[in-house]
Amino acid sequence: MSFSLNDFHRRTGTRFRLYVQSPVLEGFGEPETVWVSSPAGSLRPGPADGRMYAIRPVDKKPYDDAAMPPWIGPCHPPARGDRAGHFDHIATDDPAFASVHMFGAVRRVLDVWESYLGGPVHWHFNITHPRLEMIAHVPWDNAHFGWGFMECGEGRDDQGVERPFALNFDIIAHEAGHGMIFSIVGMPVPETLTASYRGFHESASDCVAMLSALHFDRFVDHVLRVTDGNLYVENEMNRIGELSRTRQIRKASNALKLSDVIDVATPANDVTGKQVHKLGQPHTGAVFDILVEFYLDRLVANGVTAMEKIAALREAGRCAQFETADRTLFADAFAREPEAFRTALCEARDMLGLRLAEAWRRLTPHDFIFARELDMLLTVDAEFTGTRNRQTILECFEWRGISLEAYESGDRRQYRIG
Ligand SMILES: [Zn+2]
Repeated sequence: MSFSLNDFHRRTGTRFRLYVQSPVLEGFGEPETVWVSSPAGSLRPGPADGRMYAIRPVDKKPYDDAAMPPWIGPCHPPARGDRAGHFDHIATDDPAFASVHMFGAVRRVLDVWESYLGGPVHWHFNITHPRLEMIAHVPWDNAHFGWGFMECGEGRDDQGVERPFALNFDIIAHEAGHGMIFSIVGMPVPETLTASYRGFHESASDCVAMLSALHFDRFVDHVLRVTDGNLYVENEMNRIGELSRTRQIRKASNALKLSDVIDVATPANDVTGKQVHKLGQPHTGAVFDILVEFYLDRLVANGVTAMEKIAALREAGRCAQFETADRTLFADAFAREPEAFRTALCEARDMLGLRLAEAWRRLTPHDFIFARELDMLLTVDAEFTGTRNRQTILECFEWRGISLEAYESGDRRQYRIG
């Protein structure tokens, strides 16, 4: 059973309009209406609530070490809800739209992950800043999440179009992902920070963005349409990246292993930003592979396709004979029953999201190694459904060079960054 956040919040929540993909992509020209969990009428102008607020400062530079929130300078007027408290009436060309979009997108990401976690995410910075400050525009070609704030500049999106990053769901969800991982997993001290934890942080933020995007009906339909429902073959051939002009999926379906990236024993502060992003890629790939395996599992369990056909597909994968594999299998079935494929993908999304959220909740950020996360994921999965997924999860991680051996041998000190 998968669930729909829109259905869940439709009667009592607040409406926003969000771009889940760049509007230049076919089918994404208009933002999608979503319902977030904030009770209608509860949001104050900004929008703002007890945990976060959007403001529109006049002439503000990006925050740095010398300047921290809250912003106390002048601001443009805040966006206001309609009479019922919704924010979907604000036109996309309204100067306040980006602030509304940013608030709605972060609220949506929180809704997704709080449903998986079974409770609210408490900001890691709330000891000094009770609320997250959101600024949709600073003169900068980047976006960042820091102590008590998130702010965005402008830059080219995946389609090469200059856009405010505040209108890019992927970037906002990734930045919100950083905040959530700090809040859920925690913050190491300098002595216990590893290069792996920095890589994990980037990867987990990408996973947060990908699974959050899969809560938009149009995005799910888009992914299935460009692959004809066949995420497996396209993933194995690393072809989704070409087919799908969606950053989340393109980054997730990569073929990198730990042996392809910088040594995890490198001192955390000696790793460049670019190396950190690459270091997370094998982990992101493993998580995506598990999503695809869960998806196949649900297709079989729901009677959409037979186990033998999936087995034949995997066999072709092992022999790298995809070209001769029955490519019509999925295309025909998908054309016949697109709804069944959508259900399977949404169920796989929630299976994975629930397991990741619970595993992350139990992790410690100190002396982090990827194998410990794998061990926790297996523990959580076993508590949920016994041993049926164990082999799948293990194989997806082992193929990436992440195995339990490093963890079970107790040889953790070699990963310790002093
Ligand atoms: Zn990041």
